[in-house]
Amino acid sequence: MIGVIFGPPGSGKGTQAALIQSEFDLSHLSTGEILRTEAARGSSVGREAARIMAAGDLVPDPLMVRIVRRRLQTGNGRSGVLLDGFPRTVAQAKALDAMLGKDGRRVDFVVALEAPESVLVGRLLHRAKVEGRSDDTLEAITERMHEYRARTAEVLTHYRGEGVRVEEVDGTGPVEAVFERVREAVGI
Ligand code: AMP
Repeated sequence: MIGVIFGPPGSGKGTQAALIQSEFDLSHLSTGEILRTEAARGSSVGREAARIMAAGDLVPDPLMVRIVRRRLQTGNGRSGVLLDGFPRTVAQAKALDAMLGKDGRRVDFVVALEAPESVLVGRLLHRAKVEGRSDDTLEAITERMHEYRARTAEVLTHYRGEGVRVEEVDGTGPVEAVFERVREAVGI
């Protein structure tokens, strides 16, 4: 089972992914977390990623595809994967489809969380105070929203065109209420 949790910055992808993985046999693969770990290690890839992330831009596709390919190959014994924050461009989606296709696999479902931009920005500014992420400044948030609209939103169009089940879920309200909707949408 390969699932994708999708949505704009602040839509609750990481929070919902953690709940889904703890309840079902899916391993949570967050590309943002992988990049933040690399950045904290201070590797050359990490330093470059940190600069791009702090500006709210997208890390280049070839690097992201390489990272995900390695993780999908190693696996960790669980029966499926829940991708969080990937794919973020149509090129990434096509690369993912190709790597899964080699093993006769494909994306089984996409859960697309939705919320008005005012809610998203409010959540990210709140998170800035709690977690202090370097890309939760108003300037970086504005750029991330722009990247989402310009390059990421069309990933849904790609998957709809491929006949993949895309479930749009209202991402507003309490975490538990959103999770109920996610569970219902996915039918798990
Ligand atoms: P996230 O934790 O998913 O909000 O990601 C934080 C940041 O990491 C993004 O704003 C991007 O700079 C970078 N990033 C994470 N995943 C990707 C991806 N699939 N493609 C490009 N950049 C990514």
